[in-house]
Amino acid sequence: MTYDENGIFAKIIRKEIPAKIVYETENVLAFEDVNPKAPVHVLIVPKLRVMSVDDLADEHAQVMGELLLAARDIARELGVNEHGYRLVINTNANAGQEVFHLHVHLLAGRKMTWPPG
Ligand code: 5GP
Repeated sequence: MTYDENGIFAKIIRKEIPAKIVYETENVLAFEDVNPKAPVHVLIVPKLRVMSVDDLADEHAQVMGELLLAARDIARELGVNEHGYRLVINTNANAGQEVFHLHVHLLAGRKMTWPPG
C-alpha cells in the first residue's frame, strides 16, 4: 500500500474539505472526529505522508514527539486532563485502522474501560 494523497485526512490537512479544527501548528493538525466515540473525540495528525506507526521512519521522531505534546496541550485546553483521557493509535487491520494517515485518537469525557475490545 502507498500513501493516498487524496485520502480524507490529506484533504483535511490541505483544507480541501472542512473539519472542526481545534489545534494547528507547522507540523501537526487536530480536529474533531466526525463520528465521536466519546463526548470528546479529537484526531491528532502529523502533516506527514505517513500511513501508520508501521510506516514511520527514524527521521519522524521529532514530529511524533510534537504530536504527543500536542495531545497534552489539547487535553489541557479542553479541560479534560485532570479527569483523564485516552490516546489511541490503531495500526493496520487487526487494530481496526480505517483511515491510512497516521492519527492519534484523543478520547475523554467518560469513564473508559480496560482492556479495549
Ligand atoms: P481509525 O479507525 O482509522 O483509527 O479511525 C478513523 C477515524 O476517522 C474514525 O474515528 C472516524 O470516525 C474518523 N473519520 C473518518 N472520516 C472522517 C472525516 O471525513 N472527518 C473527520 N473529522 N473524521 C473522520
